[in-house]
Order: sequence, then C-alpha cells, then structure tokens
Amino acid sequence: MRYNFLQLFRQGFSGHRGWPRTWRRAEPSGIYDAVVVGGGGHGLATAWHLVRDEGLSRVAVLERGWLGGGNTGRNTTVIRSNYLREPGIRFQDENLRLWEDLSQRLDFNLMVSQRGQLEIIQTWAKLRDARRRMHAMRLVGADYELLDADAVYGLLPLLRRDPGCRLPVLAGAWQGRAGTVRHDAVAWAYARAASSVGVDIIENCEVTGIEVAAGRVRSVQTNRGRIATERLGLAVAGSTSRLARMAGLRLPLETLTLQAFVSEPLKPMLDVIVSCPALGIYFSQSDKGELVIGGGPDAGLSWTQRGQFQVIEDCVASLVELFPALARVKLLRSWGGAIDLSADTSPILSTTPVEGLCISAGWGSGGFKSIPAGGRSLAGLLARGQPDKHCAPFSLARFTTGRLLFETASASNRF
Ligand code: FAD
Repeated sequence: MRYNFLQLFRQGFSGHRGWPRTWRRAEPSGIYDAVVVGGGGHGLATAWHLVRDEGLSRVAVLERGWLGGGNTGRNTTVIRSNYLREPGIRFQDENLRLWEDLSQRLDFNLMVSQRGQLEIIQTWAKLRDARRRMHAMRLVGADYELLDADAVYGLLPLLRRDPGCRLPVLAGAWQGRAGTVRHDAVAWAYARAASSVGVDIIENCEVTGIEVAAGRVRSVQTNRGRIATERLGLAVAGSTSRLARMAGLRLPLETLTLQAFVSEPLKPMLDVIVSCPALGIYFSQSDKGELVIGGGPDAGLSWTQRGQFQVIEDCVASLVELFPALARVKLLRSWGGAIDLSADTSPILSTTPVEGLCISAGWGSGGFKSIPAGGRSLAGLLARGQPDKHCAPFSLARFTTGRLLFETASASNRF
C-alpha cells in the first residue's frame, strides 16, 4: 500500500484517524485446515507461507496478546550467519539471503541495514574460536574474515586504545553481510501479507488446552472457544514447553530471561554492530541514535519478562570498559523476553510424536534472524509433514539419535 504526499498531509491534519487497518481483525471460526499458535514473526510468516506456497486456504494465527508483543518486538534486531555448525551456518545464510529482498517481497519497508558485524577479539581462546569458525564458514561459502587490531581501531575510533589494559584487542572478526532489521515492522509486514491472502489473525486469543485423540491433534481450547484443526504449529518461543505439555509432550527446552537496553539518543558514533565475546556484550546504534545493547541471559530459569539488575550493571561496565567516552551516557530503558533454549542450543523445527503437531522452538537469542526461512520451513512441515533441506538437521529426533548440534555462536550459549 502506498500513500501520496496529499494523503499523508490530510492524515497529519485530521488526527491520523483515517488510516486503514494493516490487517483484518478476524473472529475465530470453529474449524481450520491449520492453526498456528503465536503471533510473532515465526507464527505470522508460517501462516503466510501456508496459504501462499502450500495451498492451504483456512489458516488462523492465534495470539494471546498483541502481534509482536513477544520476543519479535523485544529483540536487538541483529541478523547474521556467523555460526559454527554446518547446518546452522547454512540455515542462517539462507535467512540472510531471504532478508535481502524481503522488503520488496512483502511490499513493506523493513529497514534492512546490512552494516556488518565486528567481533572484538581479546583472548587467544576467542581467536582460536574465530579461526575455526572462519574455516567452517568458508567451507560452506559464507563470508567471514579476520582483521588485525589496526583494522578494528579503524572501524571503531572510540574504542579504548591502551596496550596495558586488562583485555587488549588482539584481532577482529568481520561479517559484512550481517546487519539489523526493524523488528516490529517484520511482524506488521508478515501480518499484512498473511491477512491479504485470507489468514485469520486473532489477537487476545490464548490457547489453554490441546486435544489429542488416537495420537493426532484434534483441536485447541482457547479463551474464545474450541477450534478444531488437524494441523497445529507452535511458534510461542519461551512458552513452548508449557504448550507442548498440553499435548502430553516433554521437550528438551528450558526458559530463561534475556534482556536488552537502550541508551539516550546520541549523535552518529557507530556504523557497525559490535560484539565482544570476552565481555559478553553486543551493541549497535539505531537510526534514532540510541545504543541498543544486549548481553547474556539472566541467571536461573524464569518465565518472567523482567530482568535482573546485575545483568544491566555488568553490561554497562563492559560497555564503558570498551568505550570510556560513553561513561556519562544515560540508559533510557531496559526490558526482558522469555527465550527458550534447547539442550544443545540449536533450534528445534520439527514434527513431533503427536501427528499433526509441529514446533518451531529453541531459538534462544537467535530466532529473529531466522524468521524468513523458519516460517517457510514450519509451513512445509505442517502442510506436508516433510522437512525441507534447511530444517531437516533441526529435528527433535537428534535428541534420541545423538546427532546433537552444540552451537557456540549464540549470545544465550551457557556452555
Ligand atoms: P515470539 O515473537 O516470542 O512470539 C510468540 C508469541 O506467542 C508471543 O507473542 C506470545 O504472546 C504468544 N503466545 C505464547 N503463549 C501463547 C498461548 N498460550 N496462546 C496464544 N499465544 C501465545 N534474535 C536474533 O536473531 N537477533 C537478535 O538480536 C536477538 N536479540 C534478542 C534480544 C532479546 C532481549 C530477546 C528476548 C530475544 C532476542 N532474540 C534475537 C531472539 C528472538 O527475538 C526470538 O528468538 C524470536 O523473536 C522468536 O520469534 P517467535 O515468533 O518464535 O516468538
């Protein structure tokens, strides 16, 4: 949908009351070909692909709150493919490829900014790790290069330059195709695309039970009544284990709080994403000028969306250690999201022992970047029961066959 200058002008002077709704407000019908639980990026993308690519016609997304109110609207917006395991690199490189023209395909400006990510390497162990990852990535054709310390200072002029400091800069690792994407625009764009192909998007609709009979999904119970379906997708991030239990499944997942923070707006000072594995933080500067800062997860398991103060303190201390010039910058706000982490830190995109029930889970701190390919894969699983080549390694079966995918490249990695 495009607006001309006159329309924008009229809206500005009429209190912005005349804008059309971006997606249709639907009432639940009693039966669907497929139901996707979770109105985040994964759920909405899945619904769109189910209709557009898989040919299903009666599809609903059930969201207990508002669209994008989960982790899709809470993350630090980083997209990248610098992972260690081959399936992870391939999957995330496919996502990067899809992000590149997603604004055009969804006809919605997602503000994709491939500004590059720089990892500051300050220990020999991290340097060995980065070398290993570089070789793994190059083997599958993904971009990743090592930089010397001078090149790191060239990209980050405000970085502390002190050879006697606790953790001197040894090198950098650079992925030029990494970047950021405006997160809530992703939810809105997929919602509009899904709604335009007929998907019923139902907000304020909480799933409270899953009915299984003879090993097959039959319906979901919701606060707005029973909805019959034989294909059910769960894309509910930190709530996955709770919903799976409603269908009698126990999954190798745990739920943690991951926080993010933003500073007051600053003049442009940083045009790349910076991550610092030794200090456990990463940050970028938003278009508004705020520093968007993330770190590791809070200690202990939790379903809350509020974080522990000590994590904020640690992140701020690390930021100032790297960039002393930021010592007087004020933090504006902080928030938390409930992330689900699998036992091997890789995602689970899989059918389950309950026929018709598929899950997209275990994304930890890396599920935002995975939305384009993740949604497409879950749609294929739901419609055909078959994994595509990108999601096949992420099946639940790996926890019984032992083909685990321990990944060291996620911020939520605790191993
Ligand atoms: P969500 O967006 O969380 O959507 C799930 C939805 O399910 C929610 O809206 C919830 O309300 C709904 N729901 C739950 N239970 C029910 C129910 N019973 N009935 C109906 N609806 C229900 N990833 C990256 O790739 N890059 C990053 O930089 C990044 N940074 C992050 C920073 C933070 C602070 C956090 C918390 C996460 C970060 N992530 C990042 C991870 C990423 O945000 C998530 O993996 C991703 O958004 C998951 O998307 P989703 O659609 O699966 O889940």
